[in-house]
Amino acid sequence: MTTLRADVAIAGAGLAGLGLALDLAQQGRRVILLERRKLPGGAVFSLPGANGADNSIHLFLAAFTRCRARLEQLGSRPLRELDAICHVALAGRRLALPLGAGRLHTLRELTRLRHPLGSGLELVAGLARLGSSRPRPGETAGAWLERRGLPRQRLAGLFWQEWGLSVFNAPLELVDAGLFRRTLLRLFRDPRSHRPLLADCSLADLWVKPFAQALERAGVRLLTGTALRGVERGPSGIHALLAEGLRVEAPHVVWAGPPEGLAQVAGLADCQPALPPRQAGRHIVNLRLPCAPGLRLDRLTGWFGQPFQWIFAGGDGWLTLVGSGWADEDLAQRANLLPRLPGWLAAHGLAAAGPPRWIIQRHATALQSPDFEAARPPARPQDPAAPANLFFCGAWLDTGLPLSMESALAGAELTLQALQFD
Ligand SMILES: Cc1cc2nc3c(=O)[nH]c(=O)nc-3n(C[C@H](O)[C@H](O)[C@H](O)COP(=O)(O)OP(=O)(O)OC[C@H]3O[C@@H](n4cnc5c(N)ncnc54)[C@H](O)[C@@H]3O)c2cc1C
Repeated sequence: MTTLRADVAIAGAGLAGLGLALDLAQQGRRVILLERRKLPGGAVFSLPGANGADNSIHLFLAAFTRCRARLEQLGSRPLRELDAICHVALAGRRLALPLGAGRLHTLRELTRLRHPLGSGLELVAGLARLGSSRPRPGETAGAWLERRGLPRQRLAGLFWQEWGLSVFNAPLELVDAGLFRRTLLRLFRDPRSHRPLLADCSLADLWVKPFAQALERAGVRLLTGTALRGVERGPSGIHALLAEGLRVEAPHVVWAGPPEGLAQVAGLADCQPALPPRQAGRHIVNLRLPCAPGLRLDRLTGWFGQPFQWIFAGGDGWLTLVGSGWADEDLAQRANLLPRLPGWLAAHGLAAAGPPRWIIQRHATALQSPDFEAARPPARPQDPAAPANLFFCGAWLDTGLPLSMESALAGAELTLQALQFD
């Protein structure tokens, strides 16, 4: 068995583990980063042999300041701003939402909405009432909106349910109201903060390769295909991490894998944070189709009230329909949607030039329910029986953000602050 030594040993090379490893190395720490899979990147991975297709379209928002700063630091490709007008099809009507023009413009557009379940004016009036209301502990966004005068069936037919699905990957009836409110305020903080941004390359080219190069330059030892299997643990804490044929001794140990993954690590199963299981999370589905070449990668169509919420038309010759918050029954029925596809595309002036391909990420993110929000832990395990030198890292920490790339980097910041060196 090989023994290695470091100041900090991190298990899990998703965005959070990668970000933390780089920051620590740049502060002069010796870092060893173990990754179970053959490639780092975690949830931001590109499917092997699939023309650069990613596990899902990953949308950024201008409010993702950490992601943007990190990409700049890595010298990665700049993100592309999507069309300033988001065309939203909702119940047979089309809205043109001016995304960059500020919240007043967006609200003005919403007031023009006419819908059998209620007018946009009602929706905006309801939203204004929300400004003065704080959710109750344990309340879901759906219940909170209803309490403040946005009845459930109206909510379901209107904009917020679909928007909520895209951001939280679950219906608002299940999502924590505090998280929903914070996200809404954050996104409408300034006129540009809700502008969507997208990479015009694969996630591997955007995140994974630049991170791997930066880690190498900074002297981080990244060991891929190396799962943390167990630890040597004594009364003073963890002495060493154990992987296949490898022992890593480090005074600080960081778990940057998924929270439920600790159950598989011998010696740390009792340290698993008490978060509801990820298996309760919903599925994210991408339907990818080859389209006529030459389309600009700046077209975002909100396509609400359908099984999918967004259509992206890309300069790489692909169209992607993105569906969030799918339950098991939706997945089982998905083949039934295909005959309707040509009609759907034609309605948006689009056409496919080949057969579709499904990309499905099951239980894509944990369900961001009130239970989950209340249990999101800080970077230092709160259980007094946990080893004193164990730290957590990941999008699932108590960052106050929806589970996202931004939350992963915010989680890494929390861990960096919590780590103390003599
Ligand atoms: C389908 C999908 C679509 C998404 N869309 C968006 C989007 O549009 N916008 C957005 O901002 N966010 C989106 N997200 C969320 C975002 O990708 C994640 O929140 C973020 O990447 C999580 O990063 P992380 O480092 O916390 O965890 P992860 O990426 O899960 O990383 C954990 C790592 O730990 C490794 N690991 C596990 N066990 C072990 C072990 N025993 N030893 C060593 N390593 C181990 C795993 O292999 C993995 O690499 C999406 C996620 C999915 C799944």
